[in-house]
Amino acid sequence: MVERIMPEPYRIKMVEPVKVPDRDEREEALKRAHYNMFGLRSQDVYIDLLTDSGTGAMSKYQWGALMIGDEAYAGADSFFSLKKAVKEILGFDYVVPTHQGRAAENVVFGTLVKKGDVVPFNMPFDTTRAHIFNNGGEPLDCVIDEAYHPEVQHPFKGNVDIKKLEAAVAKYGKDRIPFVMVTITNNSGGGQPVSLENLRQVSDVCRSHGILLLLDGARMAENAYFIKTREEACRGMSVAEILKETMNTADAITVSCKKDPLVNIGGMVCSRTEELHNSFLPRVILFEGYATYGGLAGRDLEALALGLREMVDEQYLAHRVAQVRYLGDLLGEGGVPCVTPAGGHAIFIDAAAFLPHIPQSAYPADVLGIEIYREGAIRGIGLGALAFATPDETGRIVYPKLELFRLAINRRTYTNHHIEFIAQTILDVYGRRDAIRYGLKEGYAPAVKGMKHFLVHLEPYAL
Ligand SMILES: *Cc1c(COP(=O)(O)O)cnc(C)c1O
Repeated sequence: MVERIMPEPYRIKMVEPVKVPDRDEREEALKRAHYNMFGLRSQDVYIDLLTDSGTGAMSKYQWGALMIGDEAYAGADSFFSLKKAVKEILGFDYVVPTHQGRAAENVVFGTLVKKGDVVPFNMPFDTTRAHIFNNGGEPLDCVIDEAYHPEVQHPFKGNVDIKKLEAAVAKYGKDRIPFVMVTITNNSGGGQPVSLENLRQVSDVCRSHGILLLLDGARMAENAYFIKTREEACRGMSVAEILKETMNTADAITVSCKKDPLVNIGGMVCSRTEELHNSFLPRVILFEGYATYGGLAGRDLEALALGLREMVDEQYLAHRVAQVRYLGDLLGEGGVPCVTPAGGHAIFIDAAAFLPHIPQSAYPADVLGIEIYREGAIRGIGLGALAFATPDETGRIVYPKLELFRLAINRRTYTNHHIEFIAQTILDVYGRRDAIRYGLKEGYAPAVKGMKHFLVHLEPYAL
């Protein structure tokens, strides 16, 4: 059942006109884009759900703060605005800004991971995984088994399986495990939350073995909101208190500030101790910029300091999570197969179940993307075989377990009416799904592993 919809806790002060391209224009745009959603121009798209990264709307306070940015190379006031917000909202004494999340990973993993190391995770995000490989290490998924089943209900599907973690610690030991990392919410597993109880258990395991615990906090506020609504022991706490408690379990965090912290660009590394913080600084200066600006302008730091405060606003979070769930409910009521329960930032359609007559080798998630764009000029992204299939040692293609299509919801950007239009569009495609009888084959594809789906050229062929 669709619950009563929650109205937007904001009003619109400045509009960004968008136009709906007509059917001929959409066909032209698809051809120009080589049928790859990354190839579309923004002006060809009516509702853009490609990603929730850096695509949210800043508040009038953030826009106002841009004017007071201090652009000093070192020791800018704006850095101290950020440092104060980090201390107040997250409780860390030390912070370095970076230009985005993967830059924070480059700083931390380049400093701490050496060849032969193993890093246990619930699940790492793609760039996180790539950075560990790049430093000669190996990530190890320790998420609970429920995470791999789209239809299984669990309030904290992002949790770490403590038995798997203990087994990893017993096998590799402190010498080969530089740190354990937990992604909150678990993006690669569908934006699913991790409970505070689970984080405390992970922290206990780490402390008893003298291993650092790091968090990937891109969606730490959404995670705290899920804890408030789903974890009995935390019901009486505010989201701000829960977030602080969450952070208390960790020695350091990396953050893509383009997600929950509500800015269009930025990242950061926050550390508990001066020793850890100092160990990161040479790499910050080498790759990002001086330690007090890290690749960002002073005005960006001001907007970020405010974004950190705004992200824990409970009315905002309640609406955000309800809006994502509303889309999931509308699609579910119409029979569209989706990952459940809905995550914090996106709805994932099970494309294999939506288009069961298209084999995974013909990229059904990406066919679905083309059809949804055709129907309503809405852009999402396929996360299936095109993105994740890899050849094994013998050259045989190993397909991913899940063939998903993601609709990421931008923060404070679209109204519930847009959500209804998105659902209607997808239901229209669902109604004519049996007539969708084509696959996609690759034309140009880049040689670099893991980069294919961003750059590949695709061509439809009849099935
Ligand atoms: C987006 C993201 C990153 C990488 O951040 P960028 O800002 O895109 O570089 C890392 N971890 C998670 C969980 C993310 O969602």
